[in-house]
Parts: sequence; C-alpha cells; structure tokens
Amino acid sequence: MSFTFATSGSRPASAANRFGVDYHAEAARLPAPPVRILDAHAHINGAKAIPIWREAADLYGIDRVFTMVRLSDAPLVKDLLGDRARFIAFPDFRADREKSMKEGFLADIQAFHDRFGARIVKLWNAPRMRDFFEGPSAGDVVPFDSPWRIRHAQLAESLGMMFMVHVADPDTWFATKYSNAARYGTKLDQYRSLRVMLDRFKGPWIAAHMGGWPEDLAFLSSLLAAHSNLYLDTSATKWVVRELSRHPREAVIEFLTRWRGRILFGSDIVTTDEHLTPKTEAQKAHPMGDLADGPEAAFDLYASRYLALRTMWETDYEGESPIADPDLMMVDPARHDAMSAPALHGFALPPDLLNDLYAGAVATLMG
Ligand SMILES: [Zn+2]
Repeated sequence: MSFTFATSGSRPASAANRFGVDYHAEAARLPAPPVRILDAHAHINGAKAIPIWREAADLYGIDRVFTMVRLSDAPLVKDLLGDRARFIAFPDFRADREKSMKEGFLADIQAFHDRFGARIVKLWNAPRMRDFFEGPSAGDVVPFDSPWRIRHAQLAESLGMMFMVHVADPDTWFATKYSNAARYGTKLDQYRSLRVMLDRFKGPWIAAHMGGWPEDLAFLSSLLAAHSNLYLDTSATKWVVRELSRHPREAVIEFLTRWRGRILFGSDIVTTDEHLTPKTEAQKAHPMGDLADGPEAAFDLYASRYLALRTMWETDYEGESPIADPDLMMVDPARHDAMSAPALHGFALPPDLLNDLYAGAVATLMG
C-alpha cells in the first residue's frame, strides 16, 4: 500500500495545508531520514517566525540551513540560530534598487564575508530584472555577464566565495507573464550569459531551483556535463514538486545517480514576522494564498514545504500535493482555481541517493 497522509481532515484546510493534515503528526509518520538534512537554500528571518521555523525544522530532521536575508537582519538570525544558520550574501532588495544592486551589493558581499563568515554569494538573475532596470543604463546590470555583475563576481572570487544563481523561472511563467520574448527573452536565452559566467568564474556555482529548469532533465544534464563547476539545488517547493512529479521515477533516479554529489537539497522557505499578523480582507483575497496570518498558519506554511519535499523524495505517495499551486490557475483558469494542486509523485529514493541529496553533496562542496 502506498504512503498516505493519515491525519487528513484534522486541521482547517488552507493553501499550505489543502488536506487539513496535522503537520506535527505527519512528521513523525515519515520514515526517519537516513541522515540529518541540510537545507542549502532558504530565507529564514524574523524574531517571531524563526522559532516557528525551528520547530518545523526539528520535526522534519533539518539540521542546518543556508539562509538569505538582508545584511541588517543577519545579526538577529545569528543570535537566534547560532551555528545552525549559515549566511549567503544577499542584496537588500528593499533599499534603493539602483544602489543595492550595484555598489551597495559590493559592500554587502564584503560585510557578509567579513562579519558573518558567508562563503556563498547569491546572484539573482530572474527575467523580471528587466522590469526593475529600464533605460540606457540597464545593460550595465541586467545581463548576467554585464559590468556590474562581473564586479560582484570578481569581489566574491577574490574573497574565496562560491556563487548561487537564480537563472530562470518556471515554464508556466514564460507561457504567461514573460510571454513577450522580445522583452524577457526566451527561457533558453537566460542561459547564454550564465554559461559565459560559468566559464569565466570557477565558483563552484549552485544554480537554484533545479537550475531553473526542472521541466527538462535532459537540458540540465547537458548543462552539468558542459560545466563541471556547476551544482543544482532542489529549492522552490511548489515549482519543483509540480515539475519533477511529471517525470517517471526511473528518469529522476537516473538523473540523481548520474549527477550524484552535484544536487543539493533546498526548500526556498521564506519565514518572516509578516506571517504572524492577521490579514485584512483584501490581503486574504489575494490569490497568493500561501501567506499566513498567525503562528499556526505560519507553522503549516513552513512545515508543508518540508513535508512535500520529503514525501516526494522518500515515499511512494501517489496523489495531489498538499500545497495549492497558483501557477495552475495562471496557465489554465478554466480548469483550476487558487486551491488547485498538481500531482505529487513519490520517488522512494534509495538511502544512498538520499544521503548525498540531503547532506553529502553540501558537505563535500563546503569542505
Ligand atoms: Zn530563494
């Protein structure tokens, strides 16, 4: 009999908990992971949210997290999580955008390295960079191999840091919000400048969200084969669960076996104290229903990501994801609503592959 969520219906249903399961009890029902898990990609922040994340992490076997927060929030995270959190140098998106993505980021990279021991820098290269920087000087910062990006990479390299890169977004976004290819480029176009940077800077490089293309394992294999300094993380739970679940189990196992040691577990969980305040009716009506409005909802939000990912990797579950995925409605509003979810396919990975995915690959990469 295949794995099921036995506690369905015991809690109110929500976008982060469509079946109303008890995420405490479900954690105990999962098989013990063969190794303590390292989350290589998350955004753990917030004085009130961090203890809630920590409870979920303890229950789901997550030992250590690599977190991206703005520099001014790093002391708080360090105080609350100590050695459990490692920092990935990250720009301050809330400050003046022009400055924070140019000289401000140089200062932030240096400070993350010097004050917080960061050994990775996050280089963000989503297609919507083109919405943030327009006009004649956009070329200085928008292409991934543009002058400002090279300065950031040169500084990081001089400090002995490696790189994490967000290179592309889901195919569902290229079919909708990025359908204007003249403005955003095609999905494949996003990889031209990445390849230039992979060749120029030895890294190593971690391409987030299954390298931006979990939809196409053959493409990822060609990228990994061409660039021996490239690693991938599995973060962006909704996207990665939706797209990896479309592949046959044999294809996923073959991929993970071929690239063993180069695929890192990550969640992309975002924790913030904004998840702990009640929302107005207008905020509740927002289609991004995965916001939370109090401690229990925040716990469900964070725990849901670890449960969905571990269910996919470890069990033989065959059913819908417990997490609503608004991309389905965005692509096909006639068939889906805000609470629709894709299939979640349990891959029941053998323990040796799980070991490398959950801890071995990061341990080797980070020495
Ligand atoms: Zn992220």
